[in-house]
Amino acid sequence: MVEEYLLGDLAWPEVEKVIQDEKVVLLPLGSLEQHGPHLPIDIDTVAAYEVCKRIAKKIPDIAVTMPPIYYTHAEISMGFPGTIDIQPTHFIDYLYDVCESLVKHGFKRIVMVSGHGINPPFMQIVSMMITSRYPAICSGAAYFDFAKPEVRKIVEHGAHAGEFETSMLLALKPENVDMSKAVRDWNIYMGLKSSKYAYRNFIDRSPIFFIDHLSRFSATGIIGDPTKATKEKGQKLIKVIVDDMVEYVKEFRTRPIAKPLKRRTTLK
Ligand SMILES: [Zn+2]
Repeated sequence: MVEEYLLGDLAWPEVEKVIQDEKVVLLPLGSLEQHGPHLPIDIDTVAAYEVCKRIAKKIPDIAVTMPPIYYTHAEISMGFPGTIDIQPTHFIDYLYDVCESLVKHGFKRIVMVSGHGINPPFMQIVSMMITSRYPAICSGAAYFDFAKPEVRKIVEHGAHAGEFETSMLLALKPENVDMSKAVRDWNIYMGLKSSKYAYRNFIDRSPIFFIDHLSRFSATGIIGDPTKATKEKGQKLIKVIVDDMVEYVKEFRTRPIAKPLKRRTTLK
């Protein structure tokens, strides 16, 4: 059955209707990156896409989701087999081309949604470029940056392949999680015993962004404690995050795309 909120399922005349309806296009971005011995390498992509599908299904009059982008920048995990790394400059160009194709067809509002912690700076660059050059607006965020107050009540910590992400996949695709291989690898300070400046936790971010090459400080590829993950936690996370993101997408749909106030502009 063709689902109207999945853009990849549609034929071009149906896509044209979506454009005329000025729906917000969700663009899920993941990775193909090692996530410890207990999680599949596609978890970031699966999580981002499933979140986007749930958002679009809830508000099909307002949003559609694109198929996900699997291949992104993940050099920090290249010490582990299966990781695919796209160089930063290539990735910016590639992501820009995807978004530019959408706006060339007449889409006016794009929301990139990441399941991979390294994507946000690239999404910020591309969203600024698109918004500044076209009569369109584009934004991007990681799904795990939504509903923070509620998320903090559900899980204690969120980092690579830890309690948060493992709970997500236990709720989304439990058959792909092997909890017998999940181990606590509490190396959130990346080689230091402690730091108030730089540590890995996307629920309460450190003031400084720093991520070391994972194979320098982690033998497992895990940052955190996946043994605390449960399916119930994952189900709760998905609910509060999707609810919050639906509100964001609704607001983004109402954001005006005004004509430039000054005569001189780089807008096309
Ligand atoms: Zn991840």
